[in-house]
Amino acid sequence: MIHIGKSYIQRADGQSRLCADITICPGGGPRERNIRTLWFAIDSRQEDYLAMGRADAFVFVMLISALRYGHDIVCEDPMSERLHYQLCDSLIPTLTLANSPHPMISVRAPLTREPYPNQNAVGTGFSGGLDCMYTIMSHGRDCEYPLTHIAVFNAVTFQKYGEGYRDIFRKTCLAAEVFAREQGFETIFLDTNFYEALREEDTNAFVITRHCACALALQGLFSCYLISSFASAGEFTINLSVGQEYDLLSTACASTDSLVFYSSGSEVKRYEKLVQISDWAPSYRWLHACYSKRIVGQRNCGLCKKCKEAQTILYALGKLDRYEAVFDVENYKKKFPQYLAYIMANQDDPRARQVMQVIRDRKVSIPPRAYILEKQIRHAVEALKRTQQTEEVPHE
Ligand SMILES: [Zn+2]
Repeated sequence: MIHIGKSYIQRADGQSRLCADITICPGGGPRERNIRTLWFAIDSRQEDYLAMGRADAFVFVMLISALRYGHDIVCEDPMSERLHYQLCDSLIPTLTLANSPHPMISVRAPLTREPYPNQNAVGTGFSGGLDCMYTIMSHGRDCEYPLTHIAVFNAVTFQKYGEGYRDIFRKTCLAAEVFAREQGFETIFLDTNFYEALREEDTNAFVITRHCACALALQGLFSCYLISSFASAGEFTINLSVGQEYDLLSTACASTDSLVFYSSGSEVKRYEKLVQISDWAPSYRWLHACYSKRIVGQRNCGLCKKCKEAQTILYALGKLDRYEAVFDVENYKKKFPQYLAYIMANQDDPRARQVMQVIRDRKVSIPPRAYILEKQIRHAVEALKRTQQTEEVPHE
C-alpha cells in the first residue's frame, strides 16, 4: 500500500514547496518500509497557485509505480471526485487489463466536488521540441483555449540526464523566460524532487502522468493544461513502459472540476507538425529538435537521428534556409547524400518512413551516392548483427 499523508507547505530560499509524506507499506514491492517526502516547488511569490489540501497531484505521481508493484493508494487529503471516478472506473482498469498480469489496485480518499479556485490560466510545457512548438503555434488568440503560460516542469525529462539535471532545468527556465517575453506569455517554473525520492530508470513510463501531476499541483493557476503529444492518435497503444503512446487516455482521465487536460497534436503525424510550423517565424529561432544538445536555445547538433529527420523534411519542403539560426544549413546541404542514406537505411522506423514519404511527395531528387551509401549502411548493420549473434552463442 502507498499511504499519502496530508499536504503541507515548506518555505525556504525564496521557494514554496507543496509537500506530502509518502509511506510505502510492507508487503507491496521492492521499496518496502520506506517513508519519503515528495515536493513540488515554485517561486514563493506564486505560492497561491499550489493546490494545498488536495491529494490529486501526489496520486498521479505515484500512479504508475502503484500499478507496477500492485500497491493500493490511500490518501489523507481529499481527492477531486471527478478525478477519482476517472481513475477508478477508467484509467486503472484499462491499464490493468492491457498490461496483465498486473493486479488491479484501488485508490481510497475522502472526495470533494469543490472546484479549486484558480486564475483561469492555460498552460503548456516548453522545451523547444517539435511537439511543444506545434502546441504553442496552434493555441493562439483565435483558439478556444488561447495559451497564457509557458511552463517548465522538472518532472522527468531533465532527470534522465542524471546528476546535473537541475542545472539543465534552470538553464531551460532562463531560455523559456526569453521566449515568453518575446511571445507575450507568462511563465511558471516548477521544480520537484522526483529524481531523488523516486528514481526510476525507464523515464518513458512516467513522463505523461508526472507532467500531469505537476499541472495538478498548480490547480490554483491553471484551468486548462495542454500536454504536447509525442505520438499521433494512429499510434495509440497501451503499454505501461511507454506513457507517450497512450497519452490520449491519461490526459482524458487527469481532469478535475478545476483543471481540464488536453493532449495537443495527436491529430497529426509528426512530419505534418513540422510542415505546419515551418511557416511560423518563432520556430526559426527556437526549434530544438535534438537528442544531443540538452538546452533549448543552443544550436541543434545536426547529427543525431531527430536532427537528421527534421533537417531532411525542411530541406524537402524548401524551407531549411529559414533555420540557419538553429541548424548548420550549409553543412547539411554538403552532406545531404549521407544524411538521406542514413534515413533510407533506417526505414524500419516509422519516423524515417514518414521522412521518406515527404521526399517522395515533394519529388526531391535522390542522388545516386545516397543509394550507394544506403547499401553500405545496411551491410554494416547486418554484419554487426551477425557478430553480436555469434558472441551470444554459449560455449560448450
Ligand atoms: Zn541533434
